[in-house]
Amino acid sequence: MSVLVVGTVAFDAIETPFGKTDKIVGGAATYICLSSSFFTNKLNLVSVVGEDFPNDAIQILKDKSVDTEGLQIKKGEKTFFWSGKYHNDMNTRDTLDTQLNVLENFDPIVPEKFQESEFLMLGNLMPSVQKKVLDQMKKRPKLVVLDTMNFWMDLFMDDLKEALKEVDVLTINDEEARQLSGEYSLVKAAKVILAMGPKYLIIKKGEHGALLFNNKEVFFAPALPLEEVFDPTGAGDSFAGGFIGYLAKTNDISFENMKRAVINGSAMASFCVEKFGTQKLTEINQDDVDARINEFVNLVQFDITLK
Ligand code: AMP
Repeated sequence: MSVLVVGTVAFDAIETPFGKTDKIVGGAATYICLSSSFFTNKLNLVSVVGEDFPNDAIQILKDKSVDTEGLQIKKGEKTFFWSGKYHNDMNTRDTLDTQLNVLENFDPIVPEKFQESEFLMLGNLMPSVQKKVLDQMKKRPKLVVLDTMNFWMDLFMDDLKEALKEVDVLTINDEEARQLSGEYSLVKAAKVILAMGPKYLIIKKGEHGALLFNNKEVFFAPALPLEEVFDPTGAGDSFAGGFIGYLAKTNDISFENMKRAVINGSAMASFCVEKFGTQKLTEINQDDVDARINEFVNLVQFDITLK
């Protein structure tokens, strides 16, 4: 099944306790596409970059079978730039700088041939742009997943709530779930958020795993305990890419299959954090992904006899 991905394609500058990068290629849609490419070769990208964005970075996406017809390249303008610094726990970070640049006036155009994509991943971006992409679909996709962050909640909470009315799955982290719901308890937060529109909610808790909620059930997936965590940037997007990629590959959106999708997403996120930026995602192969998913299976498997 095809997946339409919208989100930022960006330059990032990252600082973690293990090092610092100058401008490197990042962006929510970049991580999503790289991660999803392990599950489907029908990936359609809608995004925007400036004239300063390197062609070879676009070529890396093309080599992963990403159709970049919907990637606008704006002459004389600069690519979106984000810079962040992680705290010692690597689970929390401060945004040091966000320069919207080309995003400021971004009007997404979904090419005709993308308008019937079966799965839609509304990656992190202005909520109004996410909504505009959904509105251009010829028929409603089988599943619409939306990812967002505190930055957009601070600026455009009303637009975000409008978009949420129309999505099936929302993925956010624990702090964002608290901000969106006004509830500290994540169980209470999930109830409030599910009443806003989404049928499913995924709350990402960094190294503490992820929770999948619907109105009746909850599922927990751990994060893999890793020896080396260099840079958590993009972990949430890699998770989203693995999640929607697996659902598209299996063409099954039942809650049971979403549990497997959450494990696949967690596996992709676990690779992402092992090196700076997108590097690790470009180095791994299908055997690495399969082996990692097995590690997840072994991590949570146990026998118990109840008397
Ligand atoms: P994550 O670590 O999964 O939250 O994603 C980090 C990526 O999101 C980086 O590559 C950034 O370029 C991108 N990013 C940071 N801030 C924003 C924002 N406000 N909107 C969209 N993408 C962003």
